[in-house]
Amino acid sequence: FLEISRLEKSFGPLHVVRDFNLDIEQGEFVSLLGPSGCGKTTVLRMVAGFETPNHGAIRIEGRDMVRQRPNQRKIGMVFQAYALFPNLTVAQNVGFGLKVAGVPRREAADRVAEMLALIGLPDLGGRYPFQLSGGQQQRVALARALAVRPRVLLLDEPLSALDAKIRVSLRTEIRAIQQRLAITTIFVTHDQEEALSISDRIVVMNGGIAEQVGTPFQIYNHPTTKFVANFV
Ligand code: ATP
Repeated sequence: FLEISRLEKSFGPLHVVRDFNLDIEQGEFVSLLGPSGCGKTTVLRMVAGFETPNHGAIRIEGRDMVRQRPNQRKIGMVFQAYALFPNLTVAQNVGFGLKVAGVPRREAADRVAEMLALIGLPDLGGRYPFQLSGGQQQRVALARALAVRPRVLLLDEPLSALDAKIRVSLRTEIRAIQQRLAITTIFVTHDQEEALSISDRIVVMNGGIAEQVGTPFQIYNHPTTKFVANFV
């Protein structure tokens, strides 16, 4: 469904992503796991269209994305934190992409209500982001990303700013929503336990390279490199 082949990215002399290959099936949840600076976010940003690869291809349903602008790719993204528009209500935040896309007002309102129900906050549409907890804000960010019905969902450490207890409950909820919608998802994290607990497959990255790709069971029980064995 989503094919990434021979992806390369450098920033000046810094070779950040090297020969990165990954095929993701429709509806699959894949985590990019690795230490800080290993290139996870850069891979995600290339899929989203915020960075241009130096080399390689990114295809969704066979169609090359590299030359398409971010808003043409039908991708939803959730960032680490604090990415909601502070001066817009929750409902306006969730409906933002729909407005930009010119979805009729009535239809957009229905979609916003549907999304708020999906994330379990049906009554908070009129609030502002500062009136929400960190976990609620991240749910709203998820609703905003999903409102436009993207083909692919990209999650860049969406839980890392939250405290431990909320992190665990929200990751379970994200996984449940992802499965309910059967949306193809890439999840970036440096947290082994997090990746092992919610992924269909994990890509362990190190120095811009995919060290190993496998199911949580394979990664945990049969690491194929020393780095993976030590990291997991
Ligand atoms: P983290 O979890 O810390 O975000 P990461 O694995 O997501 O780590 P990236 O954010 O992809 O890593 O960054 C990989 C490397 O590329 C880092 O050394 C970073 O400093 C560098 N880098 C990222 N973006 C740029 C940029 N726009 N210009 C220059 N260097 C960059």
